[in-house]
Amino acid sequence: MIVSRAWAGKRYAVLGLARSGAATVRALLSGGASVVAWDSDAAKREHILPGTAQQVDHAPHDRGLSGGQSDLLRRTGKDMVVADLDTLDLTPFDALVVSPGVPVNTHPLAARARDAGVPIIGDIELFAQARADLPPHRVVGITGTNGKSTTTALVHHILDTAGIPARMGGNIGLPILAQEPLPDGGVYVLELSSYQIDLTRTLDCDVAVLLNVTPDHLDRYDGFDAYADAKARLFAMQSPRHAAIVAIGDAASARIARGLSSRGAALTKIAPGVCLDQSRWPSLQGPHNAQNALAAITACEALGLTAVQIDRGLETFAGLPHRMERVAVVDGVTYVNDSKATNPDSVAPALAAFPRIHWIVGGRAKGDDLDACLPQIGHVARAYTIGEAGPRFAEVLRPYVDVSEAGTLEAAVAQAAAAASAGDVVLLSPAAASFDQFRDYEHRGAAFRAAVEALT
Ligand code: ADP
Repeated sequence: MIVSRAWAGKRYAVLGLARSGAATVRALLSGGASVVAWDSDAAKREHILPGTAQQVDHAPHDRGLSGGQSDLLRRTGKDMVVADLDTLDLTPFDALVVSPGVPVNTHPLAARARDAGVPIIGDIELFAQARADLPPHRVVGITGTNGKSTTTALVHHILDTAGIPARMGGNIGLPILAQEPLPDGGVYVLELSSYQIDLTRTLDCDVAVLLNVTPDHLDRYDGFDAYADAKARLFAMQSPRHAAIVAIGDAASARIARGLSSRGAALTKIAPGVCLDQSRWPSLQGPHNAQNALAAITACEALGLTAVQIDRGLETFAGLPHRMERVAVVDGVTYVNDSKATNPDSVAPALAAFPRIHWIVGGRAKGDDLDACLPQIGHVARAYTIGEAGPRFAEVLRPYVDVSEAGTLEAAVAQAAAAASAGDVVLLSPAAASFDQFRDYEHRGAAFRAAVEALT
């Protein structure tokens, strides 16, 4: 567990008790802090403190107190209390710690914390605070709209293959505070969503990487510029002599890179369209992975790795599930699971990666168009629309390509299998979220795999 001595004696309110929230509570308690924790899901409360599932407002033993003014921790003398934070005065807390899933732009509790002058932070900020107590180490922070997980896993794999102690965390893998500290010389590789950056104030990355900024998550921001500004804060928190790596393939990233020009040699810009020989990297195909690989190579060079070490990692990287994952070849047709592609910008490179595609698209749409995909539409033999967005996507695509309104993933796989010839690719790359028909993108990817396996 990663713990800071600076937390001792402090009081934290923790909202959201899923994996990272639960790890946060444990780390804070180990660090000598006291915690009031809450999650609207009774099962998560029960998990963190048995007996609290039925709780509807602040602690039953504390009902006599006036919720608005009480300092629950001091009055109860406990290190940890499960109580509905909505009913409590936030003023006594040193910080409100929230999960990245909590929409701090609209959540009433966040507004109350701001009014009370209580900082709103996340587990990455707590990690940043704990760095002073860790053995000498370095941190790589990776952000961008698309490609974060791939690039984070790739940098971690290259380090691991080179025998350098490394951990990955943030938006990927185990919660960072739940992990064991690395020995001297270790590298923490953090995947950082814009939400996580919003909740972080003092993370000075030794190497900070921005892959791209394209429209996404606009429900959480006051427009696209505000979303891009959130990403740019990764560099604002950084010491100017530390390495900044920015892929300048889109206008917003190029603007962010221009803003960093005073960094001189500490800034590396990755230009779009660089020709790379990707033939020896089986799990890094397609132009988007050229960008991810270049970003990872540059980050590893900044960490002092040699070309030989980096090559070995690139060649042996196995890729991540649900990202351009080759699931099977049946009768010469390759089935590719790209369920993680939940917006049109992340689908475009998948469409560019194969010459003749049967494209399964749809789910819960994040927008009304597929404009980012249209330049690659010549690679699509036929589109099979599924889910809530099916009718709308069919209408958008019909002027360009043959469309079958399949409705479900199973029907789409069966229809695509019947229509495809040897050499074709059947690609699930939905350009939409999964929640209309599936638990999450992993569930959707697993359903695709099961439907493909049922063909044989
Ligand atoms: P993230 O963690 O940012 O969501 P992933 O590495 O999980 O990114 O990839 C998500 C999806 O985005 C994949 O389906 C992939 O096809 C696409 N993608 C990956 N890298 C990039 C990139 N550099 N640019 C655009 N799309 C990408």
